[in-house]
Amino acid sequence: MRENSFRLAIMPGDGIGVEVMEAATAVLEAIEKRHDIGFKMERVNGGARQYQETGVAMTEEGFEAAERADAILFGAMGSPDIRHPDGTEPAPQLDMRFRMKLYAGLRPIRAIPGVPLALASPRASEIDFALVRESTEGLFASRGKGIVTDDKVATDTMRITRDVTERVSHFSFKLAERRARRRKRKGTVTLIDKSNVFRSFAFMRKIFFEVASQHPDVTAAQHSIDATALDLIRRPWDFDVMVTENMFGDILSDLGAGLVGGMGFAPSADIGDDHALFQPCHGTAPDIAGQGIANPVAMILSTAMMLDWLGARHSSEACLEAADEIETAVDAAFGAGSVRPYDIGGSDGTGAIARAIIERLAPRARV
Ligand code: ATP
Repeated sequence: MRENSFRLAIMPGDGIGVEVMEAATAVLEAIEKRHDIGFKMERVNGGARQYQETGVAMTEEGFEAAERADAILFGAMGSPDIRHPDGTEPAPQLDMRFRMKLYAGLRPIRAIPGVPLALASPRASEIDFALVRESTEGLFASRGKGIVTDDKVATDTMRITRDVTERVSHFSFKLAERRARRRKRKGTVTLIDKSNVFRSFAFMRKIFFEVASQHPDVTAAQHSIDATALDLIRRPWDFDVMVTENMFGDILSDLGAGLVGGMGFAPSADIGDDHALFQPCHGTAPDIAGQGIANPVAMILSTAMMLDWLGARHSSEACLEAADEIETAVDAAFGAGSVRPYDIGGSDGTGAIARAIIERLAPRARV
């Protein structure tokens, strides 16, 4: 395989996952033509619809194809009306997080020029923080293991381990170091917890500050989850990198998305030591699926995150440049006010948004 050639597992899934994935692969094809990068895309099927038809949401071959790939690009999977007999939804994306140990759920929250912001303060345009959601334990460790006793009491247990807390803390500090280099200022990592009440969080906090001592160039801070909910509305521009438990991260990442235009603008990555999966924060949005009106920006920015991760992991300047180029093209398309998707009151469909972004990729090639 030539240098700068990557195998991608492409998992569109259900609902708008399929539609936004088409937009992302169109961007990747444009990037391929402009940079010295080759993508071998292998489509991997799975999701709620497949579960309904076959009884299996993701086959073992599907998981293995994803594990063989250099990176996984994922649309969305699920459907509220397709459920297991116990009432839960089939969720291969959660299975993959646990199976491939994708402990760092990275959700960058950045104000995109031209996209309406929820907060009236002029400082809202400075919002630029990264939330790291631990994604393999916490309260979600209880998934499938909750107990209901005599139809009277239900219990789910939160699990915090030293090993994963160390890994996700190191990940967060390294991320802050990288962001600090790019932004030319000192980085800060804030642990979000409830350590004044729960032993599990007090344990997490202790380990976080142990790891912090190995990253002296970054400021380490701690903030309670309740105060964070308040401050994400009052002064979200003050945060840099935040790291938190799985369930808290699940909630805060939607709050963050709401600050910067909504789910259609919120990308994410699930990163482990050996694998990484990139997907928009949004789900399958059954209410708008099949109409061609889904906003593909979250998916396209997730694709840029994938290129950034591949670039850093494989020392590929071409991938790093391509990642920056996509982000800049998104900013240019929205900054110019030339496109407006339906979710922010416009009338540009998925294809029109993708085309506007592709047209604004920098007019030069590296080949
Ligand atoms: P999940 O439980 O998988 O997160 P959900 O149904 O709770 O899924 P979403 O599928 O993310 O949540 O949808 C939440 C709302 O946001 C819906 O009204 C949906 O139409 C809207 N939405 C989500 N993603 C997009 C998008 N890319 N473009 C436009 N609207 C979107």
